[in-house]
Amino acid sequence: MIFFGSKGKVVAGDVVQGVQCPSCQNSQHASFGILNYFHLYWIPTFLTSRKAGIECMHCKRTLVGDELPSHLAEQIKSGVFTTGNTLPMFSGLIIIGVLTMFGVYAAQQDDAREATYIAQPAVDDYYVVKLTEMYDEVDAEYPYGLMRITDVSSNGIEMQVGNMAYNKASGVQKDIRQGKASADTYYNSEIILLEVADLKQLRDSGAIYSIER
Ligand SMILES: [Zn+2]
Repeated sequence: MIFFGSKGKVVAGDVVQGVQCPSCQNSQHASFGILNYFHLYWIPTFLTSRKAGIECMHCKRTLVGDELPSHLAEQIKSGVFTTGNTLPMFSGLIIIGVLTMFGVYAAQQDDAREATYIAQPAVDDYYVVKLTEMYDEVDAEYPYGLMRITDVSSNGIEMQVGNMAYNKASGVQKDIRQGKASADTYYNSEIILLEVADLKQLRDSGAIYSIER
């Protein structure tokens, strides 16, 4: 399967008078334009060339690109290539641009949401953490773990650390979704007491991967 490559599209133009066919001397030609474009998964992504051509209406001989007088080529191009048939050739780029903007926007939303969670911690907030950023003696192949808030009071934020280590953050998130991480037996019985400032610091240092509420 080929997911990218070049393709061409032919756009018909007007009849051109007064150019003599080198083969049969006929002077009536049909003009056309060729849009060559790069496609990604069959979606036109950007234009690679725009060429003009003419076809003899008598013997069908074609002249394309440099074979035409340049003023004639320009004239045909300005007639056949419109925003309507050229812009869709950039569909892929436009889609990529929109998806990128959406991704950046979503990431910013996540960031703002997690900053709020840290400023106002709540019982049962789940913190997906990078254990390697918190402890020295952690297996680097299983860097992800989980912490859960068990109590918030004037004394501080009480948290428990999970007994599991994961090779991927998505594994932790899956255990949260499926309820495995809500069992008390999932956690070490030791309670850690933290302040909001500590959570901020953990987040700034990259130890907190994500927060689920
Ligand atoms: Zn001809």
